[in-house]
Amino acid sequence: MNRLVIKFGGSSVATIDKIKAVAKVIIDRKKDYEQIVVVVSAMGKTTNGLIQMANDLSAYPAEREMDMLLATGEMVSASLLSIYLQSIGEKSVALTGFQAGFETIGSHQVSKISNVITDRLIKELNDGKIVVVTGFQGMNENGDFTTLGRGGSDTSAVAIAAVLKARCEILTDVNGIYTVDPRIRKTAKKIDYISYQETMEMANLGAKVIEPRSVEMALRYDVPLFIGLNTGDLNGTNIIKEEDIVEQNIITNISNKNDVLLVKIFKKGSNEFGISEALKQLAQNDINIDMINRIVEENEVSYKITTNLVSKNKTKQVLDEMGLDCEFKENLSKVSIIGSAMRNQVGVAARAFDILSKESVPFYEVSTSEISISYLVDESKSNKLVNAFADEFNL
Ligand code: ADP
Ligand code: ASP
Ligand code: MG
Repeated sequence: MNRLVIKFGGSSVATIDKIKAVAKVIIDRKKDYEQIVVVVSAMGKTTNGLIQMANDLSAYPAEREMDMLLATGEMVSASLLSIYLQSIGEKSVALTGFQAGFETIGSHQVSKISNVITDRLIKELNDGKIVVVTGFQGMNENGDFTTLGRGGSDTSAVAIAAVLKARCEILTDVNGIYTVDPRIRKTAKKIDYISYQETMEMANLGAKVIEPRSVEMALRYDVPLFIGLNTGDLNGTNIIKEEDIVEQNIITNISNKNDVLLVKIFKKGSNEFGISEALKQLAQNDINIDMINRIVEENEVSYKITTNLVSKNKTKQVLDEMGLDCEFKENLSKVSIIGSAMRNQVGVAARAFDILSKESVPFYEVSTSEISISYLVDESKSNKLVNAFADEFNL
C-alpha cells in the first residue's frame, strides 16, 4: 500500500487561511499516494499560551492536568482541518492521540510512545478517508492524556509512518534543513541530502527544525524522512543513510542551543563528596544533565554540569536537600560544529579554537562527540560565533 504521513507544525496551521492552504497540499498529494495520514500541531503559539494560563493560576500546576490542557491545542487544529476537508467534499476523520492508538509510558509531559495500535487508523484509511491525527499526545496505562515533550508532533508523525510503513514528510515554515538556522544566518545554504545521524546530532544540539527523538525513531524503523516547506514543494531536504551520501563536506552544520544553565556543585570545606549520588538524584527528578566537568582546586573539588534553564529551581531543591552547595551561571548558549566526516579528519578543533581566539569569544566548557564539537559561551556572543564558524567552514 502506497502511504504517506504529512506533518504540519504550528506555524503552518496558525490561522483559518493557513488551514485552508494545507488542505490544498494534502489533496494534491492524493495524486501520488493511496492513503494519507496528516499529523498536526496546535495552531501557532497555542501551546505557549496554554502553559502561560496554567502558570498564571498556579506556581506548580499538576503535570497530569497540564497534559490534559496541552492536548486540547492539537484537538482544535485537527478537528478544524477535518471540518474544512469535509466541507470541500473530501472524506476525512479527525482522531485524538488515543483514538489513533498512541499508548505511552513515563512521566507526564515527557512521555514516550510504547505502542501505536493501528486498527482504527487502518480501518479509517481503508474506508477511503484522510485521517487527521493530533500530534504530541497519547494516553498512559491509567487512561490519562499524556504529551511527548515540546515539538513532539514530529515524533507522532514518524511513529505513525513507522507502523504503517509510510514515507514521512515534515512540512514547516522553512524549505528544508540549512547549514545554519536561516534566522541567524541569511546566507545559510539548504542541504539536499543529509544523514540521519547528522540530523539527530543537529536536533540534539539545538536546531529546532526537527525534534531529535523523531529522527532517532526514523533511523531505527527505516522511515524515509523529508523536511520541506508547507506549500508542498518537494525541493526540500531528504534524510538518508550515511552510506548513501555521495558528496560530503567536513562540516555540514553549525547549531546553537540557548537557555543553557551552568551549575557548579560543591560542598564547602570538603574536597570530595558523592557526585554519583547527586547525579542519581537529579536523574530521578527528570533533570537532564549534559556537560560534566571535575575541577580540582587547592582544598576543594567541585563539578560543573550543564542543564536547561527550566530545571533551575528543581536542581537547587534537589541539591539543597542533599546538603550540597551550588552556584548558577545563566544566559549561556551551546554552539556546536557538526559533521560526520569529522570522524576521519584532523584539524577541525584547531580551526575552531583559532576562531574563538580571533573573535575574542571566551568559552566556559567544551565537549566533543564523534561527529561534533560544542562550546559553551555567553548567549550575547553566540550568533557572532555561529556566523564566524560558518564563514570558516564555508556554510
Ligand atoms: P514547526 O512549527 O513547523 O514545528 P519549528 O519552528 O519547530 O516549526 O521549526 C522550524 C524552524 O526551525 C525554522 O523556522 C528555523 O528558524 C528553525 N531552524 C533551526 N535550525 C535550522 C536549520 N539548520 N535549518 C532549518 N531551519 C532551522
Ligand atoms: N504543540 C506542541 C508544542 O508546541 C507540539 C508540537 O508543536 O510539536 O511543543
Ligand atoms: Mg517543530
